[in-house]
Amino acid sequence: MTNNPRTCGGCTACCDGWLTDKSLNLEPGSGCPNRTAEGCGIYETRPEKPCRSFTCAWLQRPDEFPEAFRPDQSGAICIVDRDWQQWKVLRAIPVGANIPPESHEWLLQYAKDRQIPYIYLERRMEGGRQVHLKEQALGPVQFAEDVKKAPGLNDTFWGFVQEE
Ligand code: SF4
Ligand code: SF4
Repeated sequence: MTNNPRTCGGCTACCDGWLTDKSLNLEPGSGCPNRTAEGCGIYETRPEKPCRSFTCAWLQRPDEFPEAFRPDQSGAICIVDRDWQQWKVLRAIPVGANIPPESHEWLLQYAKDRQIPYIYLERRMEGGRQVHLKEQALGPVQFAEDVKKAPGLNDTFWGFVQEE
């Protein structure tokens, strides 16, 4: 995005392995094997996916996500690139085991304000490795009802309480 002043800067949440990618052996807790102390060791030849093409919502949407919500600081890599019927879907991937409560609250409010579904992951880590991953979702009542018709394994869905 040429007019977007944001860059990843000091955030390396993608390369740290929190975005799982089998082609690069990215695993939560282990990070990318191409990482060096100076950054990406194969920067010039890094692959298109996920390295060149992935941009998180913090990077894409500076008007919506505050500066302090950079993923390495908020603990959440956010993505707003999928639709569920008429809704955009907010997905949040923890940088670490779980999204910190204050960031989770902020994201919940973001989703409520826009009346969009909010899907987030929770991990259980043991010995620095992920041993379990759970997907949770909160959303408008119609979203929850639609998802109940075809739930994924381990998915838990609730409807938003509508607030004035
Ligand atoms: S999470 Fe976002 S800001 Fe951080 S490295 Fe990835 S794309 Fe850049
Ligand atoms: S190849 Fe480079 S840019 Fe891609 S995840 Fe690994 S360290 Fe990051």
